[in-house]
Amino acid sequence: MRRPVQLSLIRNIAAWLMPAARPARGLSRPKAVRSAPDLQQLWRTLREEYFPECRHIDEFVVTWSKRRQKRVLASCNIRRRVVHVAQELAPQELEGWLSPLLHHEMCHAALGEKIERRGRKRCWHGREFKRLAARHPLNGSLERWIRGGGWLSAVRSHRSRASAALRRKRAVDG
Ligand SMILES: [Zn+2]
Repeated sequence: MRRPVQLSLIRNIAAWLMPAARPARGLSRPKAVRSAPDLQQLWRTLREEYFPECRHIDEFVVTWSKRRQKRVLASCNIRRRVVHVAQELAPQELEGWLSPLLHHEMCHAALGEKIERRGRKRCWHGREFKRLAARHPLNGSLERWIRGGGWLSAVRSHRSRASAALRRKRAVDG
């Protein structure tokens, strides 16, 4: 009976890479959001390669999420111009996924809110989005990695690393 589980995982992939569901009011972002230099540099490189004309995309702040994630690999808040990436993806062995992931969020940034609607619902991953996302050579591999349980095991090992660190700290603190 593995099929239903897999189907729900596939359905959830869209949610894992969604733009932030509730955009903040107003157009400014709080000063508290500090960019992560490596992510910001990768964002810039991707922008120059895939969206050379869309210089406004450079204004987005790209940073690690402070919250622990179970579901969301990355999110793009179009109005606040902030991209958060799950800290679970920080280990070096996962570094290769950051490029297709940031590219995915960049496609949201490029399209903004001018996207297809189905009735009242916005299609964040509509036809135009998919066309843009497919330009990154690892777009399909990222989806397969998520679908194949790669993300879930990243979440699990992040959790066990965190609790091991806590145990070490407790041992030191007595
Ligand atoms: Zn998305």
